[in-house]
This record gives sequence, structure tokens and C-alpha cells, in this order.
Amino acid sequence: MDSRPAADSANVGPQTGARDRDSVRVVCAHCGTTNRVPVTRLADGAKCGQCKQLLLPGRPIELTGATFDRQVANSDLPLVVDFWAAWCGPCRMMAPAFEQAAARLAPGVRLAKLDTEAAPDIATRFGIRGIPTLIAFLNGREVARQSGALDLPRLLDWIGTHVQSRR
Ligand code: ZN
Repeated sequence: MDSRPAADSANVGPQTGARDRDSVRVVCAHCGTTNRVPVTRLADGAKCGQCKQLLLPGRPIELTGATFDRQVANSDLPLVVDFWAAWCGPCRMMAPAFEQAAARLAPGVRLAKLDTEAAPDIATRFGIRGIPTLIAFLNGREVARQSGALDLPRLLDWIGTHVQSRR
């Protein structure tokens, strides 16, 4: 397992209060607002206080160069990012399993996709050499990395091993 810390800029989230056990911070995928959601309401279809979009839609959220760092730094829920590209066959093959995993693991784990063609600087910063590459983030830090496509059972197993068991 590769447990190098994420780049410095992904590590700067405010730490005080982040581990409040009654609520967690969830960054809206649409407008980037950091929302504090009571743990008991995570499964209730919580909406962003700013733009009213669903915070935990149960499907992969799309990250961009503009939203990536904020999501990684300010999310209290585990975040699993699929570094992919449209031209990559194995990435397209894994996409349905990734969507099913997102539905299966909501709301406790968030799954996200980053198009490496659209955000090459982030792919470079994380030293992504082949895609698909999955990186699991917890509290702003990389905790696990996997290169190569996984089917649904292996995907669930990998996330369970590296993310859910570490909460
Ligand atoms: Zn929003």
C-alpha cells in the first residue's frame, strides 16, 4: 500500500472541530460550499445550504481542477477518487462498477471522478502514471492507492479494507 501523504495544498483544512462526532463536513460538489451535516441526517437526503443540491447523491461526484483540493481537504467522510480519462478503455469498463459502488456505499463513503485530461496538473502532482488509478483520501490525506480497473466485488473489498476499517 502506498501511504504517502497527499500534497501539501490538500492538507491545509482547518483541523479544529473537524472531528466533531455529531456532525461531519461535506463539500457540495456543485457550488463548493462546505456544509456541516449531522451524522443522524446523512441518509436523509441532506441538501446544500447554499445551492440546495443533494450533498450525497449516491453516485460519483465530478471533481475538477478547481474543486479537487477543497473536496479532499474539507471532507470528513472518506473520499475515493477515480483518476480516469475518456480515451481509456479500462476506465470506461470500470465506470458502471464505480457507480454501483457509489450507490452501495452512500452515505458513509463518497466516490468521485477526476478527468485527468481536464486536470493534468493534479494527475502530475499525484504522480499518476497509469489510469484508472484509485486514491482513497481520509482527513485530507492519501491512505491508499490502486492502479488498474477493479470489478465491483474487488472495488467494494478494496474500499472496505482501506477506508471503512480505518474510520
Ligand atoms: Zn451547493
